[in-house]
Formats: sequence, structure tokens, C-alpha cells
Amino acid sequence: MPTLICRKRDGGVLLPEEIARVVADFTAGTLPDSQMAALCMAIFFRGLSDAETAAFTTALRDSGRVAVWPSGTPPKIDKHSTGGIGDKVSLILAPLLACEDFWVPMVSGRGLGITGGTLDKLEAIPGFDVAVDEATGLRQLEKIGVFMAGQTADFCPADKRLYALRDVTGTVPSRGLIIASIMSKKLAESLDRLILDVKYGSGAFMKTLAEAETLAHGLAQVGTSHGVETSFLLSPMDEPLGRTVGNALEVGEAVATLKGQGPADLVALTLDLACGVSHFPREKFARRLEDGTAWEKFVTLVEAQGGDARPLDDLSTFHAARVIQPFPAPRTGCLTRMDAGIIGEVALRLGAGRHRATDAVDPSVGFGHLRKCGEHVEKGDALLLVHASSDSHAALALEILAGAVSIT
Ligand code: URA
Repeated sequence: MPTLICRKRDGGVLLPEEIARVVADFTAGTLPDSQMAALCMAIFFRGLSDAETAAFTTALRDSGRVAVWPSGTPPKIDKHSTGGIGDKVSLILAPLLACEDFWVPMVSGRGLGITGGTLDKLEAIPGFDVAVDEATGLRQLEKIGVFMAGQTADFCPADKRLYALRDVTGTVPSRGLIIASIMSKKLAESLDRLILDVKYGSGAFMKTLAEAETLAHGLAQVGTSHGVETSFLLSPMDEPLGRTVGNALEVGEAVATLKGQGPADLVALTLDLACGVSHFPREKFARRLEDGTAWEKFVTLVEAQGGDARPLDDLSTFHAARVIQPFPAPRTGCLTRMDAGIIGEVALRLGAGRHRATDAVDPSVGFGHLRKCGEHVEKGDALLLVHASSDSHAALALEILAGAVSIT
């Protein structure tokens, strides 16, 4: 191991069999965290070639079980987003795709840092169980065409441990390691098709379009080389998606969207992704949102996973925040900036997200009724409503938010 660490540190290349061995030993617990952390730091500075990235992806995927689907079953499809603020697309897209003849075996993650996670949003639904084992998942796909689950213990276990180690050693933002981490989990789902929503902007991992494009090509190349038809969209994340941020608030907005009453940007992105991965016309999915079939599928999904669909129409009352305060516009004019990065940071401080993987989240807090860039606002209009657990949290949020908006 010291030889491999030194070789990478000095700009050399690791062979696929060396990478496979390192990941296997790390999974087995025979390779100490200190050496793996040193290797990650060497990779952070030196990068991974395409061949090394592919080898890392395969090794992480093969550290656990890879799904095997019965032959003759519908195409298995999924999407992955690199993470943004107010991104509740998965909650709408998964049932929407399952309205057609597809299977959607969606495995998602929890929020970390400023980006939210689909599992945290689903868990705002009372009773919703994200622990779905392979046999249960298969039965659910056969019945309703979709499940939404978290990583089980034998699903890419090496990635789970490695991500936690990267998180505490400053080695998350390594392009090769990000690609291997994301794609190992998607490849373990044994998909036929995958669409990637690669975000760029102040509230995204990638700050510029060029960085996002490079990441997207890297992700797509690994998917394609493993036999998964992989496409991508590049989507801006300078302002939050939709008009809510925070777990229960976002579920409420997803419900409205599933009933045909979603905000324009959220509907547009969801339809773009649905069309991109299915090759079906947009109108087909737009109709599913408007005629109630996508909503019915979501209710079926919630009930199949032990959830109670009755409070879904008013989840923010079910998870009522103690304090709700408007953030007044400081002047009259056109709203030109609603900084997603700052808003994500404040949501995290309110308790909507987590700093460490083991932190709990508060489903009730976040922001509602966000105004969108391009809208005219009058001085004193609410630019958003802060949902907080205390007056002091709300006051802190309002203070920081002052730096998140521009009105011209
Ligand atoms: N998401 C992942 O799953 N892995 C990374 O490394 C970064 C984002």
C-alpha cells in the first residue's frame, strides 16, 4: 500500500487489479483508514485517468450485491442529480415514469452539507419506510413499477465507508472519486437507461457550466462503457428549484406538482428528464401530471412503503414549524438574484440538512413561498417565508438572507 500511495502521490498510474485489491481490502477492513485517506488525498491532487476511474467504479460496485432482474421484465430506468437546493424532482419523476411501462428501482441518498437528499424528504411522510430489501423491491416493481429506497448494508458498502472517509478528510471534491462513487451505485441497480441531471451554479457542487459539462461527460462515459444507455442534462442551480426548500415543504410542493399545479421551473425540468430517459413525447407526461395518474401512482408508492398518504395534502401543518416569518423585500424592482448557495447554507443552519452523516434533520424547517428571479417585487413584499424552530433561528436566517438577494 505505501508503494501505491507514493506512486499516485508522484503522478503515476494505478492498475485496475491494484485498485480492485485496495477496494476489496478496504471493504474487508484489512486496509486502515489512514492509508485509504492518504491515497484519496494523492488522488485529489493527481486525479484519476479514465481507466482508473472505470476500475474504481467497478470495484466499488462489486463491493456489494449487484441487482439481477428477471429476464423479459420492463426496461429499468433511473435518474441521478448531482444535488441542488429545493430539488424535489425524484419524488415526481419516479412515479411519473412508473405510469408507463418502465421499472424504476430508485436508490437515493440523504442530504449532506447544503444539498438536500431524497430520503430525508420521503421520511417527512409519516410511516414511509426507505429500507427496501432486494426481494421486497422486486415484488414492488412487479406490482407498481417503482420503489424509492436507501442504500442497504450490502449495496456498495465500500462507497458508503469511502464517502464517510472522504467527507472528513477534505477529499470529496475529486472528479474521479465523485464519478466512481455516483456511478457505482447506479450500476449496482443494473439499469438499462440512466439520465443524469448535472447542476452548476452557486447551489451546486460544480460552480460553472464548463465544470458541470466535464463531470457529465465523465459520468456518461462510465455508464455507457458499462452497457447502460446514459444521457445527461446540464441545469442551472443559481436560484432554488421551485418555491420551497426544506423536507416537508418540498414534499408539499412535489404533491402539488403531481396534481398538475407545480411551479414552471420544476415542471419543466421534470418533463425534460422524463422525456430524455424514456424517449416519449413531453405531452404524454404533462397529461399524467394533469389527469391525476401520476398522483395516484405516488399514493400507491407511499402506501406500498408503509406511508400514510392522508396528511400529504397539508404536510406543512402535520410538520408545523414553531415560527414562520416573512423576509421582506428591501426595495421595489426586479428580483435578479436569489442565491441558492446562501439559501442552502441557511436551510442547513435551520436544521433542514446535516453537517455529519449521523446528524438528524428537522422536517418542519426551511423556506416557503419563494419568489423567483425575473419577478417584480414591491418593497416590503415577502420574498420568502422562513420556517424555523425558534425566534433566534428565524432572526439569524433573516440576517444572512439579506446577502442572498439582489433587486434592480
Ligand atoms: N454524491 C455521491 O454519491 N458521491 C460523491 O462522491 C459525491 C456526490
